Amino acid sequence: CGQCVQVCPVGALTIHDDTNLVYKAKEEGKVLIAQVAPSSRTTIAEALGEETGTVSTGRMITAMKMLGFDYVFDTDFTADLTIMEEGNELLNRITNGGVLPMMTSCCPGWVKFCETSYPKYTQHLSSAKSPQQMFGSVIKTYFAQKAGIDPANIFSCSIMPCTAKKFECKRPEMSDSGYQDVDAALTVQELAKLIKSAGIDFSKLEESRFDNPFGLGSGAGEIFAATGGVMEAALRTVYEVLTGEELKQLEFQAVRGFEGLKEAAVDINGTTVKVAVVHSLGEARKIMDRVVDGTADYHFIEVMACPGGCIGGGGNPVRNWKKVAKRTVNVYQQDKDLPIRKSHESPAIKMIYEEFLGEPLSETSHHLLHTKYANRQDILRI
Ligand code: SF4
Repeated sequence: CGQCVQVCPVGALTIHDDTNLVYKAKEEGKVLIAQVAPSSRTTIAEALGEETGTVSTGRMITAMKMLGFDYVFDTDFTADLTIMEEGNELLNRITNGGVLPMMTSCCPGWVKFCETSYPKYTQHLSSAKSPQQMFGSVIKTYFAQKAGIDPANIFSCSIMPCTAKKFECKRPEMSDSGYQDVDAALTVQELAKLIKSAGIDFSKLEESRFDNPFGLGSGAGEIFAATGGVMEAALRTVYEVLTGEELKQLEFQAVRGFEGLKEAAVDINGTTVKVAVVHSLGEARKIMDRVVDGTADYHFIEVMACPGGCIGGGGNPVRNWKKVAKRTVNVYQQDKDLPIRKSHESPAIKMIYEEFLGEPLSETSHHLLHTKYANRQDILRI
């Protein structure tokens, strides 16, 4: 997607326009439920002609309600859920001699690249689904039960920075709820098209809030938008869970910024946890070559296919480094402004474990929130 087109085997070369699916679902009388990715709230205003980096969360929600969405939820919630599941998986692997380094799995562009180019190494990928797909499973099970809605009558739609998410939601294994977990992934550009087509003057809208019970994510979920964000979010939680002590300095500067490879070593209870962060598929290939030859001496590696991470994703308005940098500043500012900045402290996270999942890596969690990967090497031989 985006600048990755020449090297990216993520199925994003043909960009489908799925806006018609929203109209169709409305005509069919479905309950329209949307989730909005962390980065999308920082790029939708730009897609509608406003200044780069304008954060318009409240106006975006109002516009989506005017378009007919019955519920608009915050994907930050399942970014937090990803941290809970992935963080515990990492702890398990470190403690029990599992496959290391573990690698993030929330970017479908990267996952598919690994499946096609390094199929023998997919056991390094975390089994945790991406936040988009976790939300899809949760909406058609836990939320449907809680709200008394027939899951067959739900149209679950995501607003993403990403064209690869369209491929991800159609993977056959992404149906653990008993239905296709996410019915359509729309890009930020497609949401902008819907808003324009409806004649909505975005600049004049009042602010609304995300709907409960998934309306308040943590700052840790918010920074998933930027390269290094998943790693920083994971470190905030893993540190506190393992040490039982409060983390004084939440910002891990070593994993922020736009260098191709970023590294950090964090002392947790006497164990030095070594991590790395890469973005762009060129850097992904370099780090995978090191995994293959055994020189990637890390416990955990974050990989994002797009330069800059999702905030530079191909479903956003056209980007250059200056724009990506400007958007990124505001991503980190939103983290600072949020009342809760660690995934494990989110009330929605506590609620879903208490009421539904039990604990991280429970049987229900495994069934709904984790997945398996395929060998897709044949795709390269076509
Ligand atoms: Fe999609 Fe984000 Fe991955 Fe780019 S980095 S392919 S926008 S998930």
